Amino acid sequence: MALKIIMLGAPGAGKGTQAKRLALAYGLPHISTGDIFRAHLNRATHLGKQVQQYLEAGRLVPDDLTCEIVADRLKESDCANGFILDGFPRSTPQAEMLRNHLAGRGESVSAAINVEVPDSEIVERLTARRTCSLCGTIFNLKFDPPSGDATQCDRNGCGGRLIRRKDDEEVTIRERLRVYHETTEPVIGYYEKLGVLRTVSGAGATPEEIFAKIESMLGAPAKGPQP
Ligand code: AMP
Repeated sequence: MALKIIMLGAPGAGKGTQAKRLALAYGLPHISTGDIFRAHLNRATHLGKQVQQYLEAGRLVPDDLTCEIVADRLKESDCANGFILDGFPRSTPQAEMLRNHLAGRGESVSAAINVEVPDSEIVERLTARRTCSLCGTIFNLKFDPPSGDATQCDRNGCGGRLIRRKDDEEVTIRERLRVYHETTEPVIGYYEKLGVLRTVSGAGATPEEIFAKIESMLGAPAKGPQP
């Protein structure tokens, strides 16, 4: 069965963590528009320069540009058996584009998983989030800190410097939450109407417990190795 899954939720709700687990468990590509944009930003490509101002301010990259990148990515051969989309769609026009794109191939979204977390917890989580500048491991200084020095990655002897994403500064987090409620939240209703919405609480449970709930919601046995 080709699973075409969309992860919905506020920034910092944990949808990226769950998306990675699902991708591994079901053997599907994990497509994160935020990761794609950040990779271009870091390499200072033409696209990176185009999106920089939006990412740094916590605003959405224009729909046309975002949709073009996702449509191109979905045409790649590894998406033939399904995909996990993380951070897309983030607006109703993006959801429409995805629907039309898939309909053109006689396909549709299998499930839209909405990971719900209260805003107060989001701010607490994101201000403490750090990323390893070498291996990309994500830490949380409050909930999942490195074992020794709080500024150094402790995974597999990596030793990389832990950095705070520019858009994880509190003022930018509040802007991202504002944009989320205004522009992205309506996408939840969009998938509810299509009958594919599944909502899971992302608060007060471990990532493993949340993953187990998502798996049972999908009702499809995982093919790949369990994370
Ligand atoms: P994320 O890592 O998913 O929180 O995304 C980081 C940033 O990338 C967002 O704050 C936006 O500036 C941009 N971005 C990611 N996905 C989208 C999207 N679907 N539409 C517009 N902008 C996006």
